[in-house]
Amino acid sequence: MAREARYYERSADGSVRCRLCPHQCRLKEAEVGLCRVRRNEGGTLLSLIYGEVTSVAVDPIEKKPLYHFYPGSGILSLGTIGCNFSCLFCQNWQISQAQAPTSPFPPEEAVGQAQATGSIGIAYTYNEPNIWFEYVLDTATLAREAGLKNVLVTNGYIAAEPLAELLPVIDALNIDLKSMDRDFYVKLCGGRLEPVLETAKRASRDAFVEVTHLVIPGHNDSDDQFRRMADWVAGELGPDTPTHISAYFPRYRLQAPPTPLATLQRAYDTFSDRLNYVYLGNVMAKEGSDTRCAHCGALAIERLGYHTTNHLRPGARCPDCGRRLPVIMAGIRIATVWTIGIATLCTLIGAGGLGDLIMRGLRSIQMDYLIAGTVPAAILAVLFDWALGGLERWLTPEGLRGYAEHGR
Ligand code: SF4
Repeated sequence: MAREARYYERSADGSVRCRLCPHQCRLKEAEVGLCRVRRNEGGTLLSLIYGEVTSVAVDPIEKKPLYHFYPGSGILSLGTIGCNFSCLFCQNWQISQAQAPTSPFPPEEAVGQAQATGSIGIAYTYNEPNIWFEYVLDTATLAREAGLKNVLVTNGYIAAEPLAELLPVIDALNIDLKSMDRDFYVKLCGGRLEPVLETAKRASRDAFVEVTHLVIPGHNDSDDQFRRMADWVAGELGPDTPTHISAYFPRYRLQAPPTPLATLQRAYDTFSDRLNYVYLGNVMAKEGSDTRCAHCGALAIERLGYHTTNHLRPGARCPDCGRRLPVIMAGIRIATVWTIGIATLCTLIGAGGLGDLIMRGLRSIQMDYLIAGTVPAAILAVLFDWALGGLERWLTPEGLRGYAEHGR
């Protein structure tokens, strides 16, 4: 369905300029942008794909790929048509570059289906979600209100202003870094490198970010390329940024051979010298699929295909050395447990004991008791959770450990 787009300017001659992505397309009457999904109709810019999907599926979160964000969980994944890049090697060109049938799927339905399927949230994926901006923003806002997570799998090609509006409702992103060469982006993708790097930097301040690099023989597979990319990720996003080195297979218009395993291994070694969590994707290889503690090397999360076994302790702590790993998992924060526990205790004491509390009924729980209980409880909880980190394992009930390991 068509809906008026956001982020555009009208001109007196009836043309419009779309400001959603760095292309900044100027469109005369009836013209369509480079992404093929935004059209000028009578001086109004329309999004032609609002609430239109080509694919809906519950995928393992590992398929996005996100390895450090609720590992082992399922996420409702949606895609539509179009893209603001025109990569010659596009792996999903049937929906990004060609016309594919779509079906209506309004935001309320997407959120309802995510809840009904037990997904942790919604991933906007398969094609480029930035050009679906209006729908993604509305759906992600509703999903957030419903307590769900939102994930973008993106090329990072979006202007700064819409990105700033979207990020507050986005929990995690996987951003494609295709090359560190400007020419590569111009000639093979029809875009520019700098805005992608800016998006990655900006997103990593507000959300959880993982990076994917598709290695294409003869185009972006030199050691120098790997070194520059790994240095940039480590320097700008941080050495703990999970980075996926992905194998290319011939698709669409580029005729390069599939990525040899030896090339992936070379990339893996170079990236691993600079980054703590590097993975191989699109290949069945034992090395490069598990998560190991960057401090002691202990096995933290095992992966076989999309099946995961999580050995992390509550709080995403290493099973051996107890250090916290950069993994976001479901589970009750230990601080929350202490806060609830101590606040309840203080409230009971303030109210004169459990028996008295029951006798007087809920009306007797006065706000000053609750406040008096909660404030010291929160302070104690933070002390236990952060300052006494090493002792946490001894203070953690086994039941909570199981809850945290199995996710939502
Ligand atoms: S979103 Fe589409 S229409 Fe808008 S500037 Fe980018 S390519 Fe052009």
